[in-house]
Amino acid sequence: MLNVLNNTVRLKKLISSSTFTLGFLSFILSNSVEAASCFGWPSGRPIALSITYDDGYPDNLTAAIPDLETYGFRGSFYLATNYVSQYRASDIPQWKQAALKGHEIGSHTSTHECSSLNGGVNPNLATQAAVTAAVTNANTWLNANINEDRGRTFAYPCGETWVGQNNSTGEAAYINVLRQQHIAARWLDPSAPNYRASVKAQPYKLRAYAYDPTTGQTIQDIKNYLDQPTVGTDGWKILIFHNVGTPNSVFPITRADHQEILRYIYSSNKYWVAPVRDVIHYMYRYDCQ
Ligand SMILES: [Zn+2]
Repeated sequence: MLNVLNNTVRLKKLISSSTFTLGFLSFILSNSVEAASCFGWPSGRPIALSITYDDGYPDNLTAAIPDLETYGFRGSFYLATNYVSQYRASDIPQWKQAALKGHEIGSHTSTHECSSLNGGVNPNLATQAAVTAAVTNANTWLNANINEDRGRTFAYPCGETWVGQNNSTGEAAYINVLRQQHIAARWLDPSAPNYRASVKAQPYKLRAYAYDPTTGQTIQDIKNYLDQPTVGTDGWKILIFHNVGTPNSVFPITRADHQEILRYIYSSNKYWVAPVRDVIHYMYRYDCQ
């Protein structure tokens, strides 16, 4: 703020002096406007982008991670921990390795609680005790089996943000549980990017775009989401994928399309690509007004 004031005083002095040309004044003015915005993403990139994958499918290890690393990217992987521990235990060493390489291994609950998969309100989510168990069990398992992470983030199964009933009381109850164990939670809603103000106001409803080919989406829709302009210097977009390169699976993106999107992101030079956890940490650390 002091810098901005100093610049304003300096600018007034410059304007009162008759020795500067109009062109030089406009140069000073544009620099002064830039100085007013103190926040910026690393490497001067105008937009942050997190690329996320849900459930913990094995093709995330064999296809998504190699594709990301081709471009030096790191992703966020939200594991439904009972699925991994009971059916894909052989993947655990590779998830640990991914965490060591800087990918985020986040939580997607232990049991993937989701009413829409159960024809209505899931009785398992009817009480705060049940969702507390699903959240706590997942976080405990991840800390014990993958990596100790006090900054771990969370992704709502099916994007459902409520305990029991879909209303503000149900949502507050879910967020109260998450607040004890996670620094932020990824929701849905591609209508707008996230900004520092929106994240600080509600870190447990991060907006994101979910790729869903079952509704006819193509990668052009992903590009359209990426191309939507952001305002200011603190915009943050989040992509959601599930299976990668496995036909007839969960919201699958083909391997070729996945690689095409990553190439599109890389070649645009617009994005600081980082896991959700890293973006949140950066946002809070870089705390200028
Ligand atoms: Zn899921």
